[in-house]
Amino acid sequence: MKDCNQCGKCCTKYANGGLSATASEIELWEVFKPEISNYVDSGNIWISPVTGKLLERCPWLRQMPNQNKYTCDIYYDRPDDCKSYPVSIKQMAEDECEMLEVQDLANPKKAQQTLNVMMIDSRPAYEE
Ligand code: SF4
Ligand code: SF4
Repeated sequence: MKDCNQCGKCCTKYANGGLSATASEIELWEVFKPEISNYVDSGNIWISPVTGKLLERCPWLRQMPNQNKYTCDIYYDRPDDCKSYPVSIKQMAEDECEMLEVQDLANPKKAQQTLNVMMIDSRPAYEE
């Protein structure tokens, strides 16, 4: 299992209607980060404040200059959904997450344990 290389695939895939935020997250944004809550509508993220429509691309995803790497403009305030990723080896394989190595696919149970340790500060351990 490699460290995240910021390829941006997960943000690209899930931002288009695949992410959710809790009522308490939204409330915190409303009070402390109105620039983020601008992109929330009826509890849904990320919605264009101009058109009122679901955005195809996350408005906070930023490509690093002259690189194929991405950063998050709201990294410390991003939704828990984003903080929890990646959750499972199956999900990573489906998403072609670049943290995965050949040996992780050969032994997904062990890889899941490794991933759970890597994610220990972000989410509870996941088991199939
Ligand atoms: S909020 Fe940040 S971490 Fe979440 S999808 Fe957008 S760029 Fe990625
Ligand atoms: S798909 Fe995997 S390697 Fe790429 S940014 Fe997301 S977590 Fe990192």
